[in-house]
Amino acid sequence: MNNGHLRDIVILGGGAAGWIAAALLAKKIDRHQTRITLVESEEIGIIGVGEATVPLLTQCNAMLGIDEFDFVRKTQGTFKLGIEFCDWGVARNRHFHAFSDYGHAVEGISTHHYWLRMRQSGEDCPIDDYSFAYAVAKNNNFAPHNERYHYAYHFDASLYARYLRDVATELGVRRIEGKMTHFDLDGGSGNITAIHLADGQTVPGDLFLDCTGFASALLGNALGTPFVDWSHWLLCNSAIAVPSRRTGEPMPFTRSTAHAGGWRWTIPLQHRSGNGMVYNSDLWSDEAARETLLGSIDGEPLADPRLFRFTSGHRKQFWNRNCIGIGFASSFLEPLESTGIQLIVMGVLKLLKYFPQRTIDPVLRDEYNRISTREIERIRDFIIAHYYLSRRPEPLWSACRNIEIPDSLRHKLDVWNASGQVALEDSESYMEPSWVAILLGNGAVPERYAVAADFHPLEQIRTGLKLRREEIMRSAQAVTSHQDFIDRHCKAPQKALV
Ligand SMILES: Cc1cc2nc3c(=O)[nH]c(=O)nc-3n(C[C@H](O)[C@H](O)[C@H](O)COP(=O)(O)OP(=O)(O)OC[C@H]3O[C@@H](n4cnc5c(N)ncnc54)[C@H](O)[C@@H]3O)c2cc1C
Repeated sequence: MNNGHLRDIVILGGGAAGWIAAALLAKKIDRHQTRITLVESEEIGIIGVGEATVPLLTQCNAMLGIDEFDFVRKTQGTFKLGIEFCDWGVARNRHFHAFSDYGHAVEGISTHHYWLRMRQSGEDCPIDDYSFAYAVAKNNNFAPHNERYHYAYHFDASLYARYLRDVATELGVRRIEGKMTHFDLDGGSGNITAIHLADGQTVPGDLFLDCTGFASALLGNALGTPFVDWSHWLLCNSAIAVPSRRTGEPMPFTRSTAHAGGWRWTIPLQHRSGNGMVYNSDLWSDEAARETLLGSIDGEPLADPRLFRFTSGHRKQFWNRNCIGIGFASSFLEPLESTGIQLIVMGVLKLLKYFPQRTIDPVLRDEYNRISTREIERIRDFIIAHYYLSRRPEPLWSACRNIEIPDSLRHKLDVWNASGQVALEDSESYMEPSWVAILLGNGAVPERYAVAADFHPLEQIRTGLKLRREEIMRSAQAVTSHQDFIDRHCKAPQKALV
């Protein structure tokens, strides 16, 4: 039944969540029927972190018709082939989670099964040697190679929000500067009908997107949507971030280094590096985290360190009544796999898929909530696995090892240990190669592998794998250096460092 188009969508909040939502909606819906208004408060500001991404962002940019080189140039961006994990699992361990696989499957059997068979026969070269993306990253090279790997970006979070604001306003989004003070609810439906701003303006709407970050001013406060707390599974509750002068050429990957009480990110941008320490403040003091962070970064700090507190989890409903939470307003997962902006894009794409009419059909809302919950639970399991598999002795790591993990993750680990297979469910963001990277990278080597990997003589497998490694090494060295690629296509103007 057609009950009319939405007339007014109101987006409250102008961080990454608000502006991604505004731009995608403005691009994909008929603006003659539906007006999009974004309200943001410069006085409150944005969180201003979130500088590493996943390949979904290249798709988001393509949907918006964004010129990639212009985007990278204006956000002081660099390219990202994956995440290098240092000292995770045990000290001096290194492994790489690439946005790619370990080469083509042979007769339907993925490379890691042949690798496991070779390992059992006594050969022990790292699984990363079969990753072309890793070989390119290790050489500090980069060029798009869409047939062999995906890539993402690093960028300056504040410049990114500004860039998207320009894209969205050009697409017709109306921007209002102001701070929401209170709201009106419809007595019958409980829907939000309008928000009121400090300067006296009233902004009415049919559908509201809560993009107010941790404040969750509409979904949480106005509608009282409860929070599902996952802090018993994801123990880190704090982060300290500091920008620093970059030393050397920018790496085409994010680095995550484990420390005694947490882990540290290094994100290379054109004009500086982003750094931060993520930890549990009950098990490691803020002072110890800050000192370790400042003592570990390469270049000189360019600003005072900023402290963040958070709780992992999500609002029980991502969409409640006529309000949808996007970004921190609906969920938080710690930044280990750079999933914040990914979740924002996924949230908006789902909204476009289940886009409502003026009277919202509850079936759409329920489906949106069902899928959103599944998606974030799958990502949650992937992040927990990094911690749970650690064999480091310090209090944080032993606490993470001793948690009661979710049944869904337990099932994955059991199947992996018994067969070397990754048991994927629906709504997974991380496919087999990602799980293989994290499981093998953290030393979770299964006892068994696919039975079909035994069909070929060992010598044939050995020769085949050796040829692959050699081809990867050769081809990766031939790729342009990351710095040269940037210089040639998307060098940012030199300007203020922070
Ligand atoms: C330490 C840390 C590191 C992170 N690293 C990454 C990363 O590497 N990669 C990644 O993808 N994600 C990362 N994230 C997540 C990422 O920062 C967020 O997903 C992203 O910034 C989105 O934030 P937001 O738009 O939801 O909130 P915010 O940026 O906080 O924006 C909230 C907006 O709401 C407005 N607002 C709030 N209340 C009102 C009001 N009453 N009236 C009017 N306006 C209001 C504010 O002014 C602001 O415009 C990280 C997060 C943290 C904490």
